[in-house]
Amino acid sequence: MSGFVEKPEPLQVPGLVHIHTGKVRDLYRNEAGDLVMVASDRLSAYDWVLPSEIPDKGRVLTQLSLWWFDQLTDLVPNHVISTDLPAGAPADWAGRTLVCRSLRMVPVECVARGYLTGSGLVEYEKSRTVCGLALPEGLTDGSELPGPIFTPATKAAVGEHDENVSYEEVARQVGVEEAALLRRTTLDVYARARDIARERGIILADTKFEFGFDHAADGEGDGSGEGTDRLVIADEVLTPDSSRFWPAATWEPGHAQPSHDKQYVRDWLTSPASGWDRRSEQPPPALPQEIVDATRAKYIEAYELLTGTTWR
Ligand code: ATP
Ligand code: MG
Repeated sequence: MSGFVEKPEPLQVPGLVHIHTGKVRDLYRNEAGDLVMVASDRLSAYDWVLPSEIPDKGRVLTQLSLWWFDQLTDLVPNHVISTDLPAGAPADWAGRTLVCRSLRMVPVECVARGYLTGSGLVEYEKSRTVCGLALPEGLTDGSELPGPIFTPATKAAVGEHDENVSYEEVARQVGVEEAALLRRTTLDVYARARDIARERGIILADTKFEFGFDHAADGEGDGSGEGTDRLVIADEVLTPDSSRFWPAATWEPGHAQPSHDKQYVRDWLTSPASGWDRRSEQPPPALPQEIVDATRAKYIEAYELLTGTTWR
């Protein structure tokens, strides 16, 4: 069993219709038909949405995504229409809410990896491949790959694991042209972000993008000149929830790297102190205050290091 320990009730906001409660984001539709995406302070780990929240996390993710969207505009258009708070929205939504183009989402998690760890490492240890791509011998946890690779995954429902798939499987699902466009855009955006992060002392080990299509006027498309469906980058981008950020100064292949994310939470949940057994059917317990504080500090630190600005 997994999922929400306690599924939150959507808020009633005049003019907005609630359409989805994701692990972290609540989605509404406004009267213009656009998407209103509200990033909560919820946090998920080990396929559970935890019963404790991390104050400001939703705002940090939203502001960091906006900063990255700005760094990427020449590579790919993004889904943001406005950061204005919809009329009648609770004050607490400020800073965490984006009005977005409602897209036809691509049913593939577009992952780029420049370094080996996580599910990539698990597959590599079995078969010397990641998503079916052959890799050289001798790599270990944290190794830099010979070059960035596109390692797509299928989107899972709340409480289920995303599953790594081969590029060929993506091409079967969405067609060869769309698969090639997804791979090219994913790797282009990764390379840009990797270089920006590296200048700031951070290794972008891997990251996940979600893309969708919207209808563009002729000539605004992907440059092919055909069709009017335009690839747009959506959801959140290059945040600690969607990416592994490692301090470059301490990077050392051969073991798990310290990272700017929920590492404290994962370490505590799997330690005897939590009293929780990951493999049990029991929901995870609430986090102690010091774990909440340390996690909040990690998210803010990632924001400050990457953007070079002070949080608030
Ligand atoms: P799920 O929604 O399945 O629980 P998740 O836990 O990753 O997945 P959240 O990140 O909490 O979800 O919610 C964001 C949801 O909004 C995702 O399902 C994402 O695919 C969707 N989404 C993001 N941007 C857009 C967009 N522009 N148009 C339509 N859907 C979008
Ligand atoms: Mg998500």
